[in-house]
Amino acid sequence: MTVTDLVLATRNAAKVRELTPMLKRAGLAINLLSLQDFPGCEAVVEDGRSYSENAVKKAVHVARLTGRIALADDSGIEVDALAGAPGILSARFAGEGATDKENNEKLLALLRDVPERRRQARFVCAVAIADPEKVIDVVEGTCAGTIVARERGGGGFGYDPLFQPLEYSRTFAELSPEIKDRISHRARAMEKALMALEKYLIRKEL
Ligand code: IMP
Repeated sequence: MTVTDLVLATRNAAKVRELTPMLKRAGLAINLLSLQDFPGCEAVVEDGRSYSENAVKKAVHVARLTGRIALADDSGIEVDALAGAPGILSARFAGEGATDKENNEKLLALLRDVPERRRQARFVCAVAIADPEKVIDVVEGTCAGTIVARERGGGGFGYDPLFQPLEYSRTFAELSPEIKDRISHRARAMEKALMALEKYLIRKEL
């Protein structure tokens, strides 16, 4: 069986930490690489109108530049009381280059007068896989929950200290990585993406 290189098309260390065990657990014949193995690979402008569009853009860009299969994720949080904001602008909600803390503070300030029963939100993640010639697949996963009143927990990244998934009384930042990696938007998207990747690798062997 041939072992195929797969490049994780993200510079976000927290995403690499979450995606790596998911890919390893799948037991596919892949050799996992990251953008650190390709220091000359420039970032793309994430100007798509949807998570899927951005994920495809990143995966295609990295696949073409590296000549290998690439997997990219684009994600964000959608808050009902804010008509779906911050959505695809989640990373720069408080402005270009904003820190997680600044984004979280802005979200809490906007929701200050919103009661608990109206603080529904969901994380959304699109995962795209591409080879240098084409898009292999793009899929989405979501995780529903609520925005809590103040930051809680030290784990995870981004909006994790503010997001409490449905049926849990702890935020993503308070839950163990094992639980987050099982129920998160990224885990759900990856479950579908890995099935597509497996089929692609089997077809390549035929
Ligand atoms: P992206 O890098 O363009 O996909 O932006 C994703 C942004 O959405 C991140 O910077 C985080 O603010 C937020 N985000 C996405 N996934 C998560 C997660 O699993 N936990 C917390 N925040 C997340």
